[in-house]
Amino acid sequence: MTVSLPLPTVRSTYPVPDEPPALPQPAVGEPRALPTHLTLLYRGPLASCDYDCPYCPFAKRRDDPDTLRRDRAALERFTDRLAELGETDPGTRIAVLFTPWGEGLVRSWYRRAITRLSHLPNIERVAIQTNLSGRVGWLADCDPASAALWATYHPGEVTHERFLAKARELSRMDVRYSVGVVGQPEHLAAAERMRRDLPEQVYLWINASEGLTYTDAEAAQWQRIDPHFGYSRHPHVSQGRPCRTGDSVLSVNGDGTLRRCHFVDDVLGNLYDDSFRSRLRRSPCPLEICDCHIGYVHLESLDLYQVFNGGIVERIPADWSTVGTR
Ligand code: SF4
Ligand code: SF4
Repeated sequence: MTVSLPLPTVRSTYPVPDEPPALPQPAVGEPRALPTHLTLLYRGPLASCDYDCPYCPFAKRRDDPDTLRRDRAALERFTDRLAELGETDPGTRIAVLFTPWGEGLVRSWYRRAITRLSHLPNIERVAIQTNLSGRVGWLADCDPASAALWATYHPGEVTHERFLAKARELSRMDVRYSVGVVGQPEHLAAAERMRRDLPEQVYLWINASEGLTYTDAEAAQWQRIDPHFGYSRHPHVSQGRPCRTGDSVLSVNGDGTLRRCHFVDDVLGNLYDDSFRSRLRRSPCPLEICDCHIGYVHLESLDLYQVFNGGIVERIPADWSTVGTR
């Protein structure tokens, strides 16, 4: 799980147009077919984690049995709904990223949901953010063309050897996955060691640590591990910039409430009553900055759809995904 906190405004180092382009809009209330590609970021009630990373502001909660039951029911309903969309909207290919507040894969219903979704014809990719603490053998039952993991290595919570063994097992199983590390100064040596030991075709990303600024020399150290660290180093100026969220990318919570992304509160409707269809449209970002990869990857003013082409939800760059791990 990555963490997003308010940050000071910093200008992006990436070129953006002075004036965002005008966005064509459908008439208000006009029903809309779903786009040919739809990305859904799902976050249910689950908020517990088997790790206790000091840089994580959540996941300190123990989910009581009722919350776990609600989380399971919500996830099963979501999975059923995606299967139904395969019938009603067969022209729409869907990519799903589960972004739980805690660790999902230690819960059987997340493993079952990913397995089932990976075999649905309308699901082009289903991925989850995970700390990789659980067993990975269940992935053998998934369609390897669809299922993927966004795995984060937390050096204070797991040994190098244990994490690496899981990663190597994923590679042997031909599972698509990326590995990441939060760019805390004390993680640098562990990240360098993990980079050396991971299969070379596995992409290791570095997230800039929230609230930290990096000198050029410090940034260069991280960039040697992740050549795309520059995208994470500073928050991206996003206000008024066109962003694919709200149009072909949506955030969904456990009761089906849809928002454009995890960071903008305005509600677009509900996944279970189709109320959102008439509200899908291209629109500029209303927030000053976007500082989380799962958000700014969808900014049209950045080139990240090219950089991560074919691996956007699991964060695998196009040129990393050709060897070995698909
Ligand atoms: S693994 Fe993720 S969710 Fe769990 S404590 Fe660490 S940062 Fe938080
Ligand atoms: S740029 Fe980020 S905050 Fe703005 S709408 Fe897109 S995802 Fe949301």
